[in-house]
Amino acid sequence: MLSLKRINKRYRIGASEQPVLNDVSFELAEGEFVSIMGPSGSGKSSLLAVLGLLHADWQGEYHFAGVALHAMKDAQRKEFARSRIGLVFQHYHLLDDLNVAENIDLPLDYLGVARNERRVRVEEALSRFGLLDKRAHYPRQLSGGQQQMVAVARAVATKPRLLLADEPTGALHSSQGEMIMDLLVDLNRAGTSIIQVTHNPDYAARAGRVLQMRDGHLRTSI
Ligand code: ADP
Ligand code: MG
Repeated sequence: MLSLKRINKRYRIGASEQPVLNDVSFELAEGEFVSIMGPSGSGKSSLLAVLGLLHADWQGEYHFAGVALHAMKDAQRKEFARSRIGLVFQHYHLLDDLNVAENIDLPLDYLGVARNERRVRVEEALSRFGLLDKRAHYPRQLSGGQQQMVAVARAVATKPRLLLADEPTGALHSSQGEMIMDLLVDLNRAGTSIIQVTHNPDYAARAGRVLQMRDGHLRTSI
């Protein structure tokens, strides 16, 4: 479904440049669930940011569903990503001033989904994730696990083909972490391809394949 070929990325710090991704090549089949592990600072978040098209400044080839994203303008490929790639972060990134239903609705609104259809999709997401009684709650009124549940619901309300999760359980207690992992496994069984970054070996093993990141290099786990 997607392939990266010799992706390179460096960060400029003052006059110097620090390489962060070194010739990263990677293929993901449709419906796959892959975990990426590796020490802090090894480039995992940078890789997900390239995959999620959050960054513009990288070199190499990135194909997604047959489309050559490296050949597109940045604004164009961000638009491409919006309906196809869902993102979940360690610290949820919900909007504090919006309630649960409004948070889930926001990306649908950005996508230009009609109001009636949005209402249906938000209801579906609330019900699917057991959040119907939390619809009017604000993020601060929810536990970390519940906030992450909303973040996952928001990420998948647009029905993306790929879900990128950067340490989604990193800020959660273990029971809440388990709940989020069960959710990811269910989503994957229902057809969403997933790439997750995690430090937890048990959670990494819930995926079909585990890759290791070291100093900007990506390798198959030994
Ligand atoms: P990981 O997610 O594996 O901890 P990151 O991708 O966040 O790794 O970071 C990889 C390296 O790039 C680190 O050395 C980090 O300090 C550096 N880095 C990350 N983001 C930036 C940035 N915006 N500017 C400069 N250096 C950065
Ligand atoms: Mg990181």
